[in-house]
Amino acid sequence: MTETASRPERIETGPIERGRIEAGRTETGPIAFDNSYARLPQGFFARVEPTPVAAPRLVAFNRALAEEMGLDADALAADGAAIFSGNRLLSGSEPIAMAYAGHQFGQFVPQLGDGRAILLGEVVRPDGGRRDIQLKGSGQTPFSRRGDGRAALGPVLREYLVSEAMAALGIPTTRALAAVTTGQPVYRERVLPGAIVTRVAASHIRVGTFQFFAARGDNDRIRILADHVIDRHYPELADAGDDRYLQLLDAVAGRQAALIARWLGVGFIHGVMNTDNMAVSGETIDFGPCAFMDAYDPRTVFSSIDQTGRYAYGNQPMIGQWNLARLAETLLPLLHETPGEAVDRANDAIGRYMERFQQEWDGVIRAKLGLPGVSEDRAGGDRGPADGGDEDTDLIRAFLALLLEQKADFTLAFRRLSDAAEDTAADAAFAALLADRSAAAPFLARWRARTAQDSRSAAERAAAMRAVNPALIPRNHRIEAAIAAAVEEQDFSLFEAMNTALARPYDDQPGFAAFAEPPKPGEEVLQTFCGT
Ligand code: AMP
Ligand code: MG
Repeated sequence: MTETASRPERIETGPIERGRIEAGRTETGPIAFDNSYARLPQGFFARVEPTPVAAPRLVAFNRALAEEMGLDADALAADGAAIFSGNRLLSGSEPIAMAYAGHQFGQFVPQLGDGRAILLGEVVRPDGGRRDIQLKGSGQTPFSRRGDGRAALGPVLREYLVSEAMAALGIPTTRALAAVTTGQPVYRERVLPGAIVTRVAASHIRVGTFQFFAARGDNDRIRILADHVIDRHYPELADAGDDRYLQLLDAVAGRQAALIARWLGVGFIHGVMNTDNMAVSGETIDFGPCAFMDAYDPRTVFSSIDQTGRYAYGNQPMIGQWNLARLAETLLPLLHETPGEAVDRANDAIGRYMERFQQEWDGVIRAKLGLPGVSEDRAGGDRGPADGGDEDTDLIRAFLALLLEQKADFTLAFRRLSDAAEDTAADAAFAALLADRSAAAPFLARWRARTAQDSRSAAERAAAMRAVNPALIPRNHRIEAAIAAAVEEQDFSLFEAMNTALARPYDDQPGFAAFAEPPKPGEEVLQTFCGT
């Protein structure tokens, strides 16, 4: 493949001329591709091949994921360096760079697109789920603007670790199938080793994909895209007739509400919730400057580029709504022929998002605190929703206020509280997380009085709490250490150990106890960088 062969075609969004809709599944090779996005009409993507790299080396391969996807894991492992660097294209692969736009920190950019990512194709897993396989860092595309199309090893390892940790936590997310180093330098503030991550996603369709066509007034393609998304991610809406686009908006909102509630539950801060980084499938995508909070504070921000705290931990639910409003705007022509009516419908859906988020978050935080579900309370009979509900709301607020005032580690506080649910001897370990230990007792007394009304045994409650309160999250200072060892000394042992440990986040793993510890004074990571 020569440089010119990989030079991209231009993105034209003129009249729709072709649409290859026949199934294109390839039955040969280690990956049986079936590329539905590449069969959309022109305008959705540019065909472009990965640019070969000098000396690829496979540094991580996710065999379990390959097997889950029905891929030939042995063949991929054997040839991983060539395949996951893009040096060898497998038969059936139809590499494309996807077009999208997006609001970045509130500013609309009409053309972003895959500037350093190339979709190799899609596979249908044995369970029927369709998955994208994409290289990130694989060279320039028509969307690269001034970028080199490459990625540095640090961000590649971060994406690998954090996306896999999120999956193990049970949170919808893109996955990491492999990482290779390229043997070529990339030039950032300093010279860094280049790398490529292979990302697996339900799809890479973003709010910004809709915005790309809305910005061009291309209602035909918005409808094609919406129907593709319904087909792929919300097939239950296929028969909903003309109402299906409003239902699509509601369904995307519902998944986003659930996703962000789950993020908050583990202290995750996405860091760059631009509309191009919000997948309509409801998966977490784009692990640039993301980070997990250590001490609880809703104002926490790590991203070096987030000067105003727009994407702070506690702002995420609201930003989710802002992003959905941008999606809704693109769908207006499909919602109703009368513009006023379309806007009313969109606004109602956006309002429902916040209600939905509140319900989701209520479920998450109640489970974390070991409080019985509200419905269980109601089913119990004499306790009205008002008394149990309001009292619980107050208890939840009191706990979070305690964590904030006492600068307590978010993850460990819930984990120690889980232990305290069945053993008062664990109270001391919880109290030890607080700046002032004596602040623990009044809360614990109140919490015990409330949970005692629950029908579960203490042991059952503790087990249920441990199943939602991880012992282990990818701590920023540990990620940085793992990256530094790999980048500076070509030592991947910390990266591998972390990956192993993070695969079982809800288990106490004495062998990996150090990974569970918050940073000691001086070890805190204050900023994370996008690494573009
Ligand atoms: P991100 O910050 O990763 O969400 O990327 C925002 C936009 O910048 C997307 O259009 C990316 O494709 C593009 N981009 C980021 N890094 C590079 C790079 N090294 N080369 C080309 N384009 C890039
Ligand atoms: Mg992005």
